[in-house]
Amino acid sequence: MKRTITHLADGRELIYFDRRDDADRSAIDRRPLEPRPPASELRYDPLTEEWIAIAGHRQTRTFLPTGGTAECPLCPSTDERSTEIPSYDYDVVVFENRFPSFSGNLGTYEDVGGLSEVRPGVGRCEVVCFTSDHDSSFSRLSDDQVELVMEAWADRTAELSAIEGVEQVFCFENRGEEIGITIAHPHGQIYAYPYVTPRTKLQLGAAQRYKGNLFADVLAAERAAGTRVVATNELWTAFVPAAARWPFEVHVYPHRQVPDLAALTEAERAAFAPLYTSVLRAFDGLFGVVMPYISAWHQAPVRTGRELAYLHLELFSIRRAPNKLKYLAGSESAMGAFVNDVRPEEAARMLRSQIDH
Ligand SMILES: [Zn+2]
Repeated sequence: MKRTITHLADGRELIYFDRRDDADRSAIDRRPLEPRPPASELRYDPLTEEWIAIAGHRQTRTFLPTGGTAECPLCPSTDERSTEIPSYDYDVVVFENRFPSFSGNLGTYEDVGGLSEVRPGVGRCEVVCFTSDHDSSFSRLSDDQVELVMEAWADRTAELSAIEGVEQVFCFENRGEEIGITIAHPHGQIYAYPYVTPRTKLQLGAAQRYKGNLFADVLAAERAAGTRVVATNELWTAFVPAAARWPFEVHVYPHRQVPDLAALTEAERAAFAPLYTSVLRAFDGLFGVVMPYISAWHQAPVRTGRELAYLHLELFSIRRAPNKLKYLAGSESAMGAFVNDVRPEEAARMLRSQIDH
């Protein structure tokens, strides 16, 4: 693997991850770009003890085109058109988001009154292009390509964890128009947060109170029960959690407890690729239409709870039937109290029947 760091016209970092050692990454970004906006401000909600990022500048971001390769900002550049990626081809590329919620570019932040503490949204947001092929999808990447993406995630996790003020690194993919994705090009994002996220805090709090190893016991119990297992191999298991919140939700665990993606072995990365893409294809096979989904890597925080944490991926879709989406309405949005219309055992059975062998 070859890693080449370069910079875009407005100073943002861009990193190529290449399979070939002789890839030429000398292309320069010649676009006239506006200066980067400052980071958002963080405001503390004393009622829920959560930080909320207020990113006013994101309202003004250009609404990204829905068109094909002719307008796509994530396709490689050509002689006629300059995109976010100066090179004429790439394997996997990562760059700093142009309109980030968190960044090192700090503005000025005033006291806003009330009980809310305000501080700058230190951190970083990056975009990961999974392939240069606009019309592909993660589910159709080759195993080699998935492994390269995983190397990029691991690299970014290690690098971003080293930034002063960063407390947690989150690699994720939002897919589908129903999730609000306006660029069809296969890509994901990485957020380096200046705090530990609410869901991670909850999970690690539960792990702390539990007598034993909570994550390992959940995995062992699901493997023993078997009724909700969707796919498994020597090193990974994918299962629908017993108390799934979403109509179609799958958690993917390595059999060995590691804190983050950077700690996976080459063998674990290699074993993850075919298992995960088969689960994604099973999602698409359910109703014969593209499944919108959110795929979220849960990694240990940078400084706290690392010995408790257990790297795993949580994948879920908001589609519950061919023409029906699950919306977060009153109970979920206002109270955080989920109601799921699909029995997890039935969801697992449906997904299993779509796994290609
Ligand atoms: Zn594209």
